[in-house]
Amino acid sequence: MISFDDNPFHQKEKGLIIQSFFDGRNSHAQLFHGPSGNGKFSTAMAYTALLLCEQPTERGACTTCTSCKQMAKLTHPDVHFVFPTHKDASNDLTGRSEELIKQWRNAVISNPYLSLGDWKRFVDAEQKNFEIRVIEAEYINEKLSFKSFYGGYKVVFIWLPEDLHPSTANKLLKNIEEPEDKTVIIMVSERYGQLMPTITSRMQSVYFPRLTEEEVRRTLEAKNIESAQVLAQLAEGNLATAFELADQSDALTELARYFTLWMRVSYSVNMPEIVKLSEDLSKKSRGFAMAFLQFSLQTIRQAVLSNFRPSAENPIFANTDFKMANFAKIVNPENAWLLMNEIDSAISDIDRTCSIKIVMTDLSIRVHYLLKRGGIPKALDIF
Ligand SMILES: [Zn+2]
Repeated sequence: MISFDDNPFHQKEKGLIIQSFFDGRNSHAQLFHGPSGNGKFSTAMAYTALLLCEQPTERGACTTCTSCKQMAKLTHPDVHFVFPTHKDASNDLTGRSEELIKQWRNAVISNPYLSLGDWKRFVDAEQKNFEIRVIEAEYINEKLSFKSFYGGYKVVFIWLPEDLHPSTANKLLKNIEEPEDKTVIIMVSERYGQLMPTITSRMQSVYFPRLTEEEVRRTLEAKNIESAQVLAQLAEGNLATAFELADQSDALTELARYFTLWMRVSYSVNMPEIVKLSEDLSKKSRGFAMAFLQFSLQTIRQAVLSNFRPSAENPIFANTDFKMANFAKIVNPENAWLLMNEIDSAISDIDRTCSIKIVMTDLSIRVHYLLKRGGIPKALDIF
């Protein structure tokens, strides 16, 4: 994670970052942002390693000096990692990053593409409220008041600054506005829109775009993962989702099973079952819910096409009682277009971190109207 070559993506962005470092144009406050599951996190780590490396090369940190070796283990004494945490009195957790640093190191070293949801699952605290609390700002100030251990830069590395409590953010502003000598603040964000403008306006930002389907497919193939093409199509450029699906041997079967059930309960507007299914999906990762909707889009598209050109049954549905020919009878080019629009906007809502349960319940009712009556009553669109 400390070499810029550890992920093969974002060549243009990496080139600019390395160039500005050697030109001395790098700011003391840098923001790396972009959608989940791309290479911004490992690039930010590689940049931190470069700042601290004893013998930097034009490709980045040397990876062999003492500083690089400590960075590789995320134990460098001059780097302070700050990330969303939860409080838990029964485990003596007061909500400071330091208390969970060992778990966090393991989590990000094993998966540099992880999301907040993955992190919550990693520490078995999915139902808890995670944020960067006020107590953290005091800790950062204290750390920054000490001299650096090696006499070089001191780095505060903030993962997911969108989860900074507003008071914490306000306290940090002083560090961003009036930086101490040789102090660098690095932030890695996935929800730029939720950052305070007072912060973003004071930081040098680099945007890391969503990975392409091709980039995800190649990464999966390089790891000899089966069904790389199908998984890449479902993952929406999110490598964390692609790996999550690949890790479950029956992920595709599960998507097919969920889709069959979803269409049945939506068609018959079975509310208790709709709520249960929405709840089930909300317990999975955000990436899984988005992959499920992406899978639904593809299946609807296939159903419309099969009306014109009958095709063989999709083998993914082999273990379900789903029959494409039957499904194709209730989708036609008109309602399919409306269905796909509704599903598309649900994907954006889930990506924007709306509640999966609420989005899925609302979407199921819309799907019901579109499948059974061909249109959505105006009353539903007030919300
Ligand atoms: Zn080095």
